Amino acid sequence: MLIGGIEAGGTKFVCGIGNEHGEIIERVTFPTTTSEETMAKVFAFFRDKEVEAIGIGSFGPIDVDKASETYGYITQTPKVKWKNYNIVGELKKQFDVPIGFHTDVTAAALAESTWGAAKSVDSCLYMTVGTGIGVGAVINGQPFQGLTHPEMGHILVKRHPNDTFEGFCPYHGDCLEGLAAGPALEKRWNKKGQELTDQPEVWDMEAYYLAQALMNYILVLSPKKIVVGGGVMKQEHLLPLVRKQVLELLNGYIAVPEITPENIDDYIVLPGLGDNAGLAGAIALGAGSMSQ
Ligand code: ADP
Ligand code: ZN
Repeated sequence: MLIGGIEAGGTKFVCGIGNEHGEIIERVTFPTTTSEETMAKVFAFFRDKEVEAIGIGSFGPIDVDKASETYGYITQTPKVKWKNYNIVGELKKQFDVPIGFHTDVTAAALAESTWGAAKSVDSCLYMTVGTGIGVGAVINGQPFQGLTHPEMGHILVKRHPNDTFEGFCPYHGDCLEGLAAGPALEKRWNKKGQELTDQPEVWDMEAYYLAQALMNYILVLSPKKIVVGGGVMKQEHLLPLVRKQVLELLNGYIAVPEITPENIDDYIVLPGLGDNAGLAGAIALGAGSMSQ
């Protein structure tokens, strides 16, 4: 069975073909420009592929409420050419197959829980720490949503006592994303994250924020596994710092074997699918749309 996947990102689009086992057979990448130009490339890619379904894991915010008149739209993006763009509708006009649609991070969570680092459990979170901070959740095997998709990257966290950076989120200033995404590192320390490896104060502060976020997610959603990816996590020493601070913050309050010094390395983990999580997730969304 061939299933199409579209990882619709703010800077690049990845289109691919895979199957229900998570194997990726073909993939192409192109830069995100206007909706017309970018989607013309998407349509051309899938034209002769004979896929049975297509999934889209998209940058957001997006409308994932099937009862809404604007279901399938990219909604409030600052990218003008994509604002209120009916990506599902436009794809449906071209290809008469079931179409799955969710956020890029929910797609990645689904891929990790179906084929990757969280496949042994039926609920997980996927967090990316990159240009922004996004978090997707799979609960009982299903993508999680309520009124709309959660926006867990924008939660409020306690400020580090040594941090005077005002934060860069255009909506909230010093929310988690405003304080801890890649651009926050660059703006606070005047160097890109890649160039800050040897400054321990940078990573202590970064772990301080990320650990608070994970603590809050654990307390609210009780995920069975947390997968953390994105460019900033390429700093290999960062995840161990985050795990340590999560344990300290929780202080033994959640008394489960997974959240202990012995097992935390297996509870808060890097992606099992590496850079394929996004595309594989879109394919998983496509596969899921066939049974709905
Ligand atoms: P996106 O979020 O746009 O999909 P990435 O996940 O690659 O892309 O994140 C890009 C961000 O991650 C940038 O802010 C970049 O500076 C930061 N980044 C990339 N590699 C590293 C690294 N090795 N160490 C720290 N930060 C990094
Ligand atoms: Zn924010």
